[in-house]
Amino acid sequence: MKTITYKNQIFEVDFDRTKEVYDNIQFSNLFSCNCHGCRNFLVNRENIYPKEVLNLMIQLGIDYKKGSELHHICKIEIGKHLYGGWFHFKGRILENGNELTETETIEVNEDFKFFFKRDGSLSFFDKEEHNQIMQLEILAHSDWVLEKELELD
Ligand SMILES: [Zn+2]
Repeated sequence: MKTITYKNQIFEVDFDRTKEVYDNIQFSNLFSCNCHGCRNFLVNRENIYPKEVLNLMIQLGIDYKKGSELHHICKIEIGKHLYGGWFHFKGRILENGNELTETETIEVNEDFKFFFKRDGSLSFFDKEEHNQIMQLEILAHSDWVLEKELELD
């Protein structure tokens, strides 16, 4: 178990196991939906994640290119869209010594929020581990970077 601190939370993570699971995910199966909404996120991905979130994900053993799920939620305004996505790590989160099953939403900036909850049901971890998995859920804005005619409503 490795200990990481982020803001007022302490993460205890089985880094080796988390990294092993991510390393074994076949990239082609992931984020591979070909719809315009998903493609737009992928093309713009490097502009979406704040550095501090990428740093945290790396420390947790999460590969941000291999989320379990990505979905286009809605158009906020012309050229700006809201997405949701899920990632997982094996471990737990403590706050003031208490274990959290769900964190408050952390607003990194007006375009990127995330929170954690204990839920391994949609993860790539083995079923026997699901009760030790935390889900990192992102809510992120992305500009529309594909051709204008393809923009979703
Ligand atoms: Zn899609």
